[in-house]
Amino acid sequence: MSIPFIDLKAQYRALQPQIQARINTVLEHGQYIMGPEVRELEARLEDFTGAKHCITVASGTEALLISLMALGIGPGDEIITTPFTFVATAEVIVLLGAKPVFVDIEPDTCNIDASLIEAAITPRTKAIMPVSLYGQPADMDEINAIAARHGNVPVIEDAAQSFGAEYKGRKSCNLSTIGCTSFFPSKPLGCYGDGGAVFTNDDSIAQACREIRVHGQSKRYVHTRIGVGGRMDTLQCAVVLAKLDRFDWEIAQRLEIGARYNRMLDELGFPRVVQRSDRTSVFGQYTVLCDDREAVQAALQKAGIPTAVHYPVPLNEQPAYKHLCCADCTPLAKEAAKRVMSLPMSADLASEDQKSICSALPAGDR
Ligand SMILES: *Cc1c(COP(=O)(O)O)cnc(C)c1O
Repeated sequence: MSIPFIDLKAQYRALQPQIQARINTVLEHGQYIMGPEVRELEARLEDFTGAKHCITVASGTEALLISLMALGIGPGDEIITTPFTFVATAEVIVLLGAKPVFVDIEPDTCNIDASLIEAAITPRTKAIMPVSLYGQPADMDEINAIAARHGNVPVIEDAAQSFGAEYKGRKSCNLSTIGCTSFFPSKPLGCYGDGGAVFTNDDSIAQACREIRVHGQSKRYVHTRIGVGGRMDTLQCAVVLAKLDRFDWEIAQRLEIGARYNRMLDELGFPRVVQRSDRTSVFGQYTVLCDDREAVQAALQKAGIPTAVHYPVPLNEQPAYKHLCCADCTPLAKEAAKRVMSLPMSADLASEDQKSICSALPAGDR
């Protein structure tokens, strides 16, 4: 028996006619860059999130970079974020010559601990960048309130793992000044290559992002600012449009599968990441906490069950970032990096497979 970590083939089989029709339409009309599917997808995602503007871009990383560029972030600026995330979150800050200021996490959700942010704010703080890790929004209202108290510092939600999630009934990506997501194939809403999007309700930020996406161009050959080559391909937009056909169903499935994992693990007494009652995680990852992670991974591997670690090293221990903040400043992130392990998760995961996964967990770690 072998269970895929994420079952993208099952998803493709379920959507094959729609995906092929959408791709064929693009091949026939030939507008491979900025074709009609780009704006069509943006309008659909504006409706979905409730955000006034959606700007599709080349990747989730590019969404974060373009957002910071739209805010004018540069050398000397500080951006408050979490060390317990994918490297792209901090990478884009450093690329612009700014400094990531790492704040520790909540041990149960593994998201940035909002109560520690205020102490990290200085006159150089130019943005706060929480990550909605594993598909569960960070404590966005708390973070927005802190930002408001300190001169309306912009808040950028790195929602690469949480598209479709909710916080107090509002959609992830529309919870703060800017929301950034990724359509990397394994994210909750994925394409068949790289893609991403920026969301905002602010007209001038949206305009800046649209220009930065195409080399800072406001009109053909008029470059009003420094930009990047950051567009999302028409073909990738077409794939996401086709996938929206069953996205609501997929979210419902993910919630059900996540809740079932919760019940099974709680019965076993196996520690896991906790979902707060005011947030609806889309379980971009389903993550447990191990005492002896190597032993747990080995036991599951023997049973044909793949696992992954998001993330084994906090960013402030990575060679390229460790000079920015001592790892001991964020002890809970350090501890989480030793314990976290993600189980197979996708909308097509069968409940019998979930049972096999949970029964393969070694008793010694419970
Ligand atoms: C995946 C991811 C990104 C980057 O998205 P790409 O589309 O791969 O560039 C950024 N931040 C987080 C938290 C992610 O999980």
